[in-house]
Amino acid sequence: MTIDQFNFAGKKAFVRVDFNVPLDENFNITDDTRMRAAMPTLKKILADGGSIIIGSHLGRPKGPTDKFSLKHIIKHLEELLGTSVQFADDCMGEDAAKKAAALKPGEVLLLENLRFYAEEEGKPRGLAEDASDEEKKAAKAAVKESQKEFTKKLASYADCYVNDAFGTAHRAHASTALIAKYFDKDNKMFGYLMEKEVKAVDKVLNDIHRPFTAIMGGSKVSSKIDIIENLLNKVDNLIIAGGMTYTFTKALGGKIGLSICEDDKLDLALDLLKKAKDKGVNLVLAVDAKIADSFSNDANTKFCKVNEIPDGWEGLDIGPETEKLFADVIKGSKTILWNGPAGVFEFDNFTHGSRAIGEAVVEATKNGAFSLVGGGDSVACVNKFGLAGGVSYVSTGGGALLEAIEGKVLPGIAAINE
Ligand code: AMP
Repeated sequence: MTIDQFNFAGKKAFVRVDFNVPLDENFNITDDTRMRAAMPTLKKILADGGSIIIGSHLGRPKGPTDKFSLKHIIKHLEELLGTSVQFADDCMGEDAAKKAAALKPGEVLLLENLRFYAEEEGKPRGLAEDASDEEKKAAKAAVKESQKEFTKKLASYADCYVNDAFGTAHRAHASTALIAKYFDKDNKMFGYLMEKEVKAVDKVLNDIHRPFTAIMGGSKVSSKIDIIENLLNKVDNLIIAGGMTYTFTKALGGKIGLSICEDDKLDLALDLLKKAKDKGVNLVLAVDAKIADSFSNDANTKFCKVNEIPDGWEGLDIGPETEKLFADVIKGSKTILWNGPAGVFEFDNFTHGSRAIGEAVVEATKNGAFSLVGGGDSVACVNKFGLAGGVSYVSTGGGALLEAIEGKVLPGIAAINE
């Protein structure tokens, strides 16, 4: 079933969204991209005359806590939807079931953070650090067992299930995948966002126009190793940017001062360089850096060669030569995947490199390239620079996008297709 084919009139839809938005210390939403991305789906349901039970997670709570309560987003959700939103402060409580049962066409109920329950993820909590393997196994079995009841109860609130949470599609959680089995094929579907995400991934996996360039930034090689290895089988150019640069630089014998580095990944970096060479992939590393004498926006700064960073200094952004080097490769590309910033873009004085990459991606897109930007920080980056409108697609998924690009079957997608 597709969402366009489905008529929600008189139906209650359980919609799993990804409202895991960043909040500041006063609980203001600092980037509402993920919420806005779910609006077409939610609005279609309301326009049809359906009602909605919204399920989401926020952060990584270990149990109920004010910090990760979805109550903080109600007001903004009401503004985006243009209608009032009811709230159930316990997704398993009496109140939630009552409110869901009483929903009338056009009404919306937001459930409290699903991850307040360990059953959502199906992982045991509160295990003693010195728990034995037996105890761990028993705890896991127990939560898997209670997860069935949890999932069934969520499903019982609604007549149909819509998954629009691409951000968690790579997790086989209760509300993202397991719940789907309580609905037959005609009553479960992707939301519009999920449909778009799946299509965009398909473009960079199966409909590649060459040259294909991937730009991998961010802080650590270790968190991106699988995707880098996989991309080496697909791309023509692989640009390494951001903090992970320095692990490569050090592995190649360069001086990196205090720059972020994973010393246990030096061999891995060399191995990746060799693999790239063997596969004929042009792996592009930074040649210069904007360095700082402390990890702060107000630090003293200067530019230097990437492998000649003085003691006491650290690279927090790429330098102008690298910007040009990267931009030339990007502008000559026909398919582009960008994940991760080129520097500490949260500090205004170290945004230049990420902005330059973004602008090159926009220019390539103007010239006909398909560009997919994904990963939480990359999204914040293109939004910060006002470049989102100039790229082909901004994915809302970080890990999910990367796993999809790795070619893995995502449980959230499989559960709908089954
Ligand atoms: P990731 O979550 O791995 O995509 O990494 C994103 C983070 O990497 C952002 O918070 C950046 O501030 C950080 N980052 C990028 N470049 C650097 C760098 N040169 N030094 C330290 N952190 C960096």
